[in-house]
Amino acid sequence: MSHDREHLTLVWFRDDLRVDDHEALTAARADGQVIGLWIRECRDDDGLGPRPLGGAARWWAHESLLALESELAKLGIPLLFAAGSAADIVPRAAADLKVNAVRWSRRYAPASRDLDAQIKTQLTDAGCPAHSHCGALLVEPWTTSPQGGDFYKVFTPFFTAVRDRAVGEVLPPPAEQKPLSDARRKSLDGLPWVRSLDGLGLLDGTDTGSGDFASARTPQWWRTTVAEHWNPGCREALRRLQELSEAIDDYAESHDIPADPDSTSGLSPRLRFGELSPRQLLATALDVPEVNEDDRHAWIRQLYWREFSWHLTYHLPNIETEPMRPEFARFPYEDDPEALEHWQDGTTGIPLVDAGMAQLWQTGWMHNRVRMTTASFLTKNLLVHWWHGEQWFWDTLVDADEANNPMSWQWVAGCGADAAPYFRIFNPERQRERFDPDGEYVNRWLGHGPGGLTPAERDHEPIVDLKTSRQAALAAYDRMKSETQ
Ligand code: FAD
Repeated sequence: MSHDREHLTLVWFRDDLRVDDHEALTAARADGQVIGLWIRECRDDDGLGPRPLGGAARWWAHESLLALESELAKLGIPLLFAAGSAADIVPRAAADLKVNAVRWSRRYAPASRDLDAQIKTQLTDAGCPAHSHCGALLVEPWTTSPQGGDFYKVFTPFFTAVRDRAVGEVLPPPAEQKPLSDARRKSLDGLPWVRSLDGLGLLDGTDTGSGDFASARTPQWWRTTVAEHWNPGCREALRRLQELSEAIDDYAESHDIPADPDSTSGLSPRLRFGELSPRQLLATALDVPEVNEDDRHAWIRQLYWREFSWHLTYHLPNIETEPMRPEFARFPYEDDPEALEHWQDGTTGIPLVDAGMAQLWQTGWMHNRVRMTTASFLTKNLLVHWWHGEQWFWDTLVDADEANNPMSWQWVAGCGADAAPYFRIFNPERQRERFDPDGEYVNRWLGHGPGGLTPAERDHEPIVDLKTSRQAALAAYDRMKSETQ
């Protein structure tokens, strides 16, 4: 296919925006020259493709692509951008660029897998081999299953089965390539499907198909808030990785303290967009000197929770809408848009919940302990369906992840495969006393959410009584159970 003698590969980047430890890129460079491609995809009419990015994640993707473009340029590799249906664009790009092969890192959500399989067939039929590689997980879902069962539905046996598995060496970035020939460079000019990065519209205030509640409320809120807290991109991600020891040190004890910025690694958006591979994280964690083995083990265990989420997502096609425990399809949730808005705005009158929602609005991120507390409050004290919370998080989190977000929401709502028993309802006041006893976290964030309460307004009455709403949740659960029997 190529009009030049040197082998040319198109590397289709997706959630792997890095040059280090990138199997597809390394294999492509071993074969010859490389051109990169990133597509702003939308789900097609059959529902195939990745879930459209939410507002905060679109901002992150834009910034991270800017960084990737610059890292690839240092290697002599051009990065092209396109928007639309990948099933149209990838085969067309392969033909227009006359590449010898296409390579990508595998993705695992059923709707994306099916799309990728379809594209692979299209390419192969057109005489262009397509190769997929492992890049986003330590343990690919089809490589492990329990004895006598189809897939693991409980974390601990999954972790026990996979934690000692070898994951291979971290790969260095590939060598710089010599400049593309004139003919190849010319073939990049004037391609009608190619856009500029800005032309992808990732920074537009509002969008369609992804929820976009946050952007609809305050277009471009991320520009004045989220953007001040992060520096996306694979180069910065590598720098942050060097600081991992600070998060691992004392992790077992302190990972639940939301006021301490070093209590966890803050690497979740880096993993979400593949600025770092999980293998890089695991290798670094295993190497960090002078940390207690319990802390090291506790942190690595969390990394495998992400693996477990993807394991479930791989096997469950509609994890973002369908409860893993089917009886929860009948749970008597309440339709209460006013309560939902108080929760989104951080004006519930419950300090830890409101502080958490403000941290999310300001930074596009929230500490895990507070994610659990705010999610429990929405689904149990307010009895609002977990879908609404999941969608708000999808739109406002920079680490919004097709597996971790729905899986965690289902876990908190009690309908997940490995969820805590429903009656274990978090009391947000007890959580605050236990994990933020000096009020450092609450004081830092209260008053900074979209509802932006002034200090005088903060002391207003909670929108629900914690005790009676807890009883109402338990009664609703009993109703669901009695209707199921
Ligand atoms: P660390 O504590 O440093 O952990 C390292 C890595 O392990 C994380 O980056 C993450 O990839 C993984 N990890 C840690 N805790 C969990 C967990 N409980 N479940 C799965 N993986 C975990 N995480 C996302 O990445 N994307 C989401 O969209 C997301 N939505 C969530 C929604 C709710 C309601 C809840 C309760 C949790 C959600 N989580 C999500 C999981 C968790 O809160 C974040 O992964 C974590 O807060 C990220 O912070 P960190 O990188 O500092 O984590």
